[in-house]
Amino acid sequence: MSEPKILLYYVFAPVADPEAVRLWQRELCESLGLRGRIIVSPHGINGTVGGELDACKQYLRRTREYPPFAALEPKWSEGTALVDAPEERLHGVERGARWQRITDFPRLSVKVRDELVAFGIPNETRVDSDGVVGGGVHLSPQEVNDLVAERGDEVVFFDGRNAWEAEIGRFAGAVVPSTRTTHDFIAQIDAGDFDDLKGRPVVTYCTGGIRCEILSAAMRTRGFDEVYQIDGGIVKYGEAFGNDGLWEGSLAVFDGREALDFAPGAAVIGRCRVCGAPSNAVSNCSDPACTHRFVVCDAHAGSPCEEHAQAA
Ligand SMILES: [Zn+2]
Ligand SMILES: [Zn+2]
Repeated sequence: MSEPKILLYYVFAPVADPEAVRLWQRELCESLGLRGRIIVSPHGINGTVGGELDACKQYLRRTREYPPFAALEPKWSEGTALVDAPEERLHGVERGARWQRITDFPRLSVKVRDELVAFGIPNETRVDSDGVVGGGVHLSPQEVNDLVAERGDEVVFFDGRNAWEAEIGRFAGAVVPSTRTTHDFIAQIDAGDFDDLKGRPVVTYCTGGIRCEILSAAMRTRGFDEVYQIDGGIVKYGEAFGNDGLWEGSLAVFDGREALDFAPGAAVIGRCRVCGAPSNAVSNCSDPACTHRFVVCDAHAGSPCEEHAQAA
C-alpha cells in the first residue's frame, strides 16, 4: 500500500436525517476501504478519514453529491500527519478535540451525536446552508495581524481549547479559561467570568477552527458583540507565520510527550508542574484512571497530578 492520505474536514449545514447519513457514510467508507472517524449531527459532519489516494478522491466526490455537503473543502494531509479527533473518549471521560495519528485509527467509526463539538448546547446551535448562524467573523491569518496592528492592546485572544493545551502554546496575552472539557466553557461564560471582555474585540481560536465555530456564536449570543474566529485555527495561522507572528510556543498534540512546533526555535513557555523548569512536554497523570494533563520536564515525566500526589 502506498503512503496513505488523510482528509480532515467539517461542514456545518442542516442534516435532516443524521442516522441515514451515518449509514450512507459507513457504507461508502467500507466500500472504499477507508478508516477513521466521522461524526454526524443535525448541524453537519466532522471527519478524519484516511486511505489510498484514489479512495480518498472518490470519497470526496461522493460525499459532495449530498447537497448539504457540496461545499466540503478538506485539508489534505500525509498519512503520518496529525489529525483532529474531536470528542474522543479517553478513560471513559469525554474530552475536547485532541490530535491523533492516522496510524492510531484501529478501524472505522461513524457516529451520530447531537453536537459536532460537545459544548452542551445542542438546542441553542443553529445552522443554515451558510454554516453556523451568528458565529464570529472569520479572519485569515493576515487579517488577524491587521486587526491587532489597527486596534493594539484592545484586541484580546480567547483560547477555545482545554486549558492544558494552552500551557505550552497560546497567542500573546491570550485569555485562557480554566476548562478541562468543552463543556466547561458555557458555564464559565454564563457565570460572568469574562464579562470584562464584552466591549472589546475578541478573537477566539482553537486547533483547527471547529470549536470556535460554536464557541464564537455562543459568546455573541451572550453579549460579546465583537467576536472573531481564525480561519483554519492555530494550524493555519502557524503555517502562515511560524514563530514570527502572534502565536507563542508549541501546539499541543495528542501524545503527551509530543508537541508540534511551526518552525525550529519556537519559544518554550510551559513550566514543569513539579520543578518549574521550562518544558513544552505535556503528560498524563501517572494514575491511569485520572484524566489530568499537565506540563512536565524530562525528569518529571510520569508524575502524578497535584490531587493524586496528595493522596499518595
Ligand atoms: Zn521538572
Ligand atoms: Zn491525577
